[in-house]
Amino acid sequence: MSIDTTCVQGGYRPGNGEPRQLPIIQSTTFKYDTSEQMGRLFDLEETGYFYTRLQNPTNDAVAAKIAQLEGGAAGMLTSSGQAANFFALFNICEAGSHVVASSAIYGGTYNLLAHTMAKMGIESTFVSPDCTDEELEAAFRPNTRAVFGETIANPALAVLDIERFAAAAHAHNVPLIVDNTFPTPVNCRPIEWGADIVTHSTTKYMDGHGAGVGGAIVDSGKFDWMAHAELFPGLTTPDESYHGVVYAEKFGLEGAFITKATSQLMRDFGSIQSPQNAFILNLGLESLHVRMPRHCENGMAVAKFLQGSDKVSGVRFPSLPGDPYHELAEKYLPNGSCGVVSFELAGGREAAERFMAALKIAAIETHVADARTCCLHPASSTHRQMTDDELVAAGISPAMVRMSCGLEGTDDLVADIAQALEQA
Ligand code: PLP
Repeated sequence: MSIDTTCVQGGYRPGNGEPRQLPIIQSTTFKYDTSEQMGRLFDLEETGYFYTRLQNPTNDAVAAKIAQLEGGAAGMLTSSGQAANFFALFNICEAGSHVVASSAIYGGTYNLLAHTMAKMGIESTFVSPDCTDEELEAAFRPNTRAVFGETIANPALAVLDIERFAAAAHAHNVPLIVDNTFPTPVNCRPIEWGADIVTHSTTKYMDGHGAGVGGAIVDSGKFDWMAHAELFPGLTTPDESYHGVVYAEKFGLEGAFITKATSQLMRDFGSIQSPQNAFILNLGLESLHVRMPRHCENGMAVAKFLQGSDKVSGVRFPSLPGDPYHELAEKYLPNGSCGVVSFELAGGREAAERFMAALKIAAIETHVADARTCCLHPASSTHRQMTDDELVAAGISPAMVRMSCGLEGTDDLVADIAQALEQA
């Protein structure tokens, strides 16, 4: 099926006389006739539902749709994008492990890696997405277990050279994990370029209406954990907390990663997405293929207008000719990148603040990627924990405004920006 048909119909195929719309299974638990059968579910000998913290049919249908959209083998939903990235990494990392990560990533993911996971004994080395091959190579250590990056970095809008990072990861026998939140599978499918695991903050374009926080993980099913079994003991040796199951042996290439993340991490950390939110997410997914081109169109119109203004000292939009990432965008994002535009006000931090206060259509929000245009000043909000040096490494200046172009009329958006620039 095409991406368009999968957006509308993927994941849930009702049988004769069953509801046409995905049912919300609003039940924490599931009933069985015998303890013996429930025991088989607990032993992972049979598939089925017993407790929504682990699995729920509504969530599974939506996860299956996202896995289909990404061209992956299996998927799962999480309560947020933060949980998705943490689970994807912690499923293969433990105290003593190391991660190579792009420095141009979302501030929350940077905090997760640089601070919280460091406290758990998992260190990270950050490399610029534009680093040389030698610099990338030098970041690896014998205990490196994963490489991490964002297809389009939030808010730096750097485009990851997925093939290059995948090749480096694979040369060290570890997987590449790509957060594909901004382009969504409508505009880029990282697995086709060599990524092994894809994550999402579904809170963004996938939901698309600012209605529900959520996350997703998709496993390509292509990474052979057993080929370097000593690097991934969590998948390749018995899990004593789960009756000694060896995930990579029992569930194979296509099932091991997501089964472990579900039966072990979700069991212990409990970051499940509510079935209500999964239902809302599915409504968003049904129009994702229609909405994304419009977000890109509005983003391009706004980027072009800003480029022509003398009140703006720099514009970043990967699809814009002349953008430092335009070449990579042409390769990985030929149909468009997303609706997010970053730009710097010539008048500095104060001008950025005045500009934002003068906007009438775009609202100031800690959010991106929904139907309503919104904007944010990263240095004083999402990235305020970072030092100036860290901000520069992440591609953020104090005068930078991040604008997420929604689905409003293009002319209205441009007119609003024009009047706000006059007041800045
Ligand atoms: N990844 C990216 C690229 C993001 O932009 C965000 C949030 O903005 C996250 C992950 C975290 O997602 P959530 O807010 O759903 O936890």
